Amino acid sequence: MWYYGLLDLSVLQLVLVALGLTHVTIVSVTLYLHRHSAHNSLDLNPVLAHFFRFWLWLTTSIVTKEWTAIHRKHHATCETENDPHSPVVKGLRKVVFEGAELYADAATPETLERFGQRTPEDWVERKIYTRHRSLGITLMALVDVMLFGVNGIWIWAVQMMWIPVWAAGVINGVGHFFGYRNYECADNARNIFPLALLVGGEELHNNHHTYPNSSKLSRRWFEVDIGWGYIRLFQLFGLARPKGYRPIAHSVPGKQVMDVETVQAIANNRFDIMRQYRKRVMEPVLRQQKTLLEEAIKPRYRKLKTLLSREITLIHAAEKEQLDSLLDENAVLRQIYDKSHELQALWRQRGVRSHEKLQALTEWCREAEASGIRYLEEFAAHLKSYSLRPV
Ligand SMILES: [Zn+2]
Ligand SMILES: [Zn+2]
Repeated sequence: MWYYGLLDLSVLQLVLVALGLTHVTIVSVTLYLHRHSAHNSLDLNPVLAHFFRFWLWLTTSIVTKEWTAIHRKHHATCETENDPHSPVVKGLRKVVFEGAELYADAATPETLERFGQRTPEDWVERKIYTRHRSLGITLMALVDVMLFGVNGIWIWAVQMMWIPVWAAGVINGVGHFFGYRNYECADNARNIFPLALLVGGEELHNNHHTYPNSSKLSRRWFEVDIGWGYIRLFQLFGLARPKGYRPIAHSVPGKQVMDVETVQAIANNRFDIMRQYRKRVMEPVLRQQKTLLEEAIKPRYRKLKTLLSREITLIHAAEKEQLDSLLDENAVLRQIYDKSHELQALWRQRGVRSHEKLQALTEWCREAEASGIRYLEEFAAHLKSYSLRPV
């Protein structure tokens, strides 16, 4: 029938086509806009990069310079009044339901000027993609109706909704609100429930905010970064080259002598070091001490376990009080908590010379080894094994 379009597909085929088309858009956003343009963590073959740019014009009307600038500003001002889309500041509802509007509001000339450097300004960009930004999605509508007939209307609608809902709403909103944190980065970014196929690995938002220059977003064995899969695939054909995804520090088995490099390696790898401190010291010690805690504290145990390792600037006053009451009650917990902050002083304090840092780290390890807390002693030995280079 003519009203089912040139292809005359079944319902199942139509659904698969819709998922396929939106998937190409997601890959364009995560590889081209996010990893390549905004963070420069990925080199792309110019033809492939232009295909992504063209596809984004057809399916989203996003202009590379605008998206890039707003996203860079998001990282630079995260969870402050200036952050274009922080759910912590603006409220989750607003970011989830008005994500696209927030982008439109944020694209001011000052923001584009300050954060939009190194983005395409060629003839096609100026004369077509930017000047006629809505022409692409209009053409897409015509193509959809031509190929799929009346069904082209809903396929086009799904295409138009995909990025506003998944990227602007879910990742920017939920990804800064609910979910788990592998690392205590300074903002509220979270990894959210496995959505890899739908959002190309972007749901690993806590990993990304911790290591924004890494083109690989997954960090743990169960995390899936679909975008990274595509990067590897394109790399096979010489079309992509990832940057900044290799480990920045190494643990050398048997190394027990500390030097200035050890301090540097630990500071470079600080988020991972603090994650290990949580796993190897805080959690086992807390489990040991659990029976000694007062009954009143036990219902809040899970919360306190989180607070113990939470990035200090993200703890509210009321939570700080709860945490303090726990620490006042238990000297061992107080000790491992204070030790974690002494360790963080190694990279938080400004203007300290490297030999003074080495002295501080040596002292830290000496105290840890004399603490009588087995997990702390083992952690000190582990710290000494760090080096900037592998064996
Ligand atoms: Zn973010
Ligand atoms: Zn980013």
